[in-house]
Amino acid sequence: MRDQLEYLIQLQDIDNQLLELRQERGNLPETVERLRAEIEETTHLLDMRREEQLNAGKERRRIENEVELAKVSLKRYQEQLFKVTTNREYDAISSEIESAKSLIQNGEARIIELLGREEELAAQISTLESHLDKIKVDYEVRDAELQEKIAETSDMENGLHARREKIVGQLAKPVYAHYERIHLAKEDGMGVAQVYMGACGGCFAAIPPQKLMEIASMEDFILCETCGRILVDADSMEKERQ
Ligand SMILES: [Zn+2]
Repeated sequence: MRDQLEYLIQLQDIDNQLLELRQERGNLPETVERLRAEIEETTHLLDMRREEQLNAGKERRRIENEVELAKVSLKRYQEQLFKVTTNREYDAISSEIESAKSLIQNGEARIIELLGREEELAAQISTLESHLDKIKVDYEVRDAELQEKIAETSDMENGLHARREKIVGQLAKPVYAHYERIHLAKEDGMGVAQVYMGACGGCFAAIPPQKLMEIASMEDFILCETCGRILVDADSMEKERQ
């Protein structure tokens, strides 16, 4: 049991060092990830705007052709109008003229609308492009910084992980499972708490005298009733060693 408690203390120490290494990297990993996601989002938005621009251009050119053809027809109908001999012919051609005129009118209105939209899209695309360029540079810089920090600390981190693995191998599975659950749940990563002046060093809850004695005897795992951390008494352990 004593060994198990010793291993737990060593495990906690290693985890504290690993946490420190991660804190040294600060919020760089989050920043890099945020920039990567922003690049992806902006690229997607840019693709959508470019496609809309392409489609608007296609539609506009199609309508421009239709309007051109309608203008040619209109001219021909207007010439024919002078040569008609019957009222029926006159009505038929007049009606053709009307529909050609309305096609031209609607077409021209739509062309103006599309030109406006294309202009809007071009402005949006240029804004998105320069934003994308900027965040890409930002990403490169931050990512390089992060990779450098990782490289600097990776030997130390690997060493800690190797030591951690050995210790975990020595711990009984339920003991490790309990430690890991608390370690991951707590913001300070502390699965093991030292008893300090009769209180839990993790949450500062007072520990009943009976429990304090049990902790000092090191014959059982004693958990803090408030926070669930495994309680150890550093003083008694020190005395045991001597
Ligand atoms: Zn506690």
